[in-house]
Amino acid sequence: MVNIILFGPPGAGKDTQAGRLVEKYGLNHISTGDIIRDEIRRKTALGRSVEEHIERGELAPDAIVIDIIADYLAGHDRCRGNIFDGFPRTVPQAEAFDSMLADRGLHVDMMLSLEAPEEELVARLLLRGTSSGRADDMNEEVIRNRIRVYERQTAAVAHHYAAQECHIPVKGVGTVDEIFCRLCTHIDSML
Ligand code: ADP
Repeated sequence: MVNIILFGPPGAGKDTQAGRLVEKYGLNHISTGDIIRDEIRRKTALGRSVEEHIERGELAPDAIVIDIIADYLAGHDRCRGNIFDGFPRTVPQAEAFDSMLADRGLHVDMMLSLEAPEEELVARLLLRGTSSGRADDMNEEVIRNRIRVYERQTAAVAHHYAAQECHIPVKGVGTVDEIFCRLCTHIDSML
């Protein structure tokens, strides 16, 4: 079973590329952002407890997100592989993830890290906000805060996996097809 982290700042294109990778390689896709938004929509206890964090562009608490992943792994122990999108986003999440995988005799096979300049990220997210209806994509201040949160709390996760020699930076600028090709080249060389 292969486990791939699709990494990068908000707006780097993780969701778009994850959808295509899932189709091409027959992997499962798990997006903690999608799960959290669904919980908020359904007004569950979990959703209500994280709603304010998300509206401000802050992260949900580690314990909540780690539980989401633990549930996911428990229900997907026989699949071909997984693409983790938006997780792990902090070093404690990465450490918990590594140990959950290790308990199953697994590890992170590669972290594909999409890179794009901040102004491009902001422009993409504002554009997405006009069609997605996501409140955190409509306000430039919240978008810039998410990018600051990424730099402050999430970027270190790349160093964590660089130390395990599975971090691969990928240029996230160009057409969707070009970026997809770059990602596939790395995955093909691993499989
Ligand atoms: P994006 O990558 O475009 O910011 P996501 O859909 O991945 O969007 O996440 C939306 C929001 O959900 C994040 O800004 C954050 O508040 C919350 N979230 C998602 N994944 C995590 C995580 N692993 N840890 C903490 N918060 C998370």
